[in-house]
Amino acid sequence: MTKLWDTHMHTAFSGDCDIPPEVMLNRAKELGLPGIIFTDHLDWDYPGEIPGEFDLGIEDYLLYMGKLLEMEAASSPTTELRIGLELGLQPHLALRHKDLLEKLPIDYCIGSVHTVHKRDPYYPTYFEGRDVKDAYKEYFECVLENLDAFSAFDSLGHLDYVVRYGKRVLGDDKGACNLADYKEIVEAIFKFIIKNDIALEVNTGAYRHGLTEPNPSFEFLKFYRQCGGNLITIGADAHHPEHVGLHYEKIAEELTPLGFKEYAIYKQHKAEMIGL
Ligand SMILES: [Zn+2]
Ligand SMILES: [Zn+2]
Repeated sequence: MTKLWDTHMHTAFSGDCDIPPEVMLNRAKELGLPGIIFTDHLDWDYPGEIPGEFDLGIEDYLLYMGKLLEMEAASSPTTELRIGLELGLQPHLALRHKDLLEKLPIDYCIGSVHTVHKRDPYYPTYFEGRDVKDAYKEYFECVLENLDAFSAFDSLGHLDYVVRYGKRVLGDDKGACNLADYKEIVEAIFKFIIKNDIALEVNTGAYRHGLTEPNPSFEFLKFYRQCGGNLITIGADAHHPEHVGLHYEKIAEELTPLGFKEYAIYKQHKAEMIGL
């Protein structure tokens, strides 16, 4: 089994996680992962029930993680630790995000769309009273709108995030997402990220949501290759220690037949390529 870095992981600094960073890190060490990147949520203006739920306390986060990094470095660890962020994209936040990332001393930033025109598909109401294709199409269009507004991040997170929740609400059949229905928009997304050196994330967190493929699906990943895409990152999106490295026993063997030979980790926003 290939041992891969887990480059998408949450800790108690995220509004939807209460696990201390050390516990997540220890799990990665138990699994023998070569490295992890903490990517806690920062979603300004998140339209949830608790105001500011995903407003990461960025100074506290950096201070705490900085100390943890120092301690780790002193102990000659076998699992390397790096610090990143999962930034929740919304077009009106583009300038704030640009200013933030320019001054933030982190290695890696995932750009993720959790909010579609002020609604998170996590909530079933996103799917109420309309065709699932419209619900999915609006999500992909929103990804493109966000890329147009701001794209100074390293990897595009869980591109078909909306499908996780569409399938939960509607079931596997009615919630199926066929690339053909959104091909033009998805092609525009892929062309944009390829041109701008942004990676496409393969998010194995899908498996804890009961899906049988990562986000995005293998059909999307194949199409990314056809569009000329090579640059991928891999992360399990764990919010609990049992999900660290989820599905890692299989993912490399699933990606290589699609033509992917390596994946990226990041140091000061520079890609370092590692063989799968
Ligand atoms: Zn996310
Ligand atoms: Zn996440």
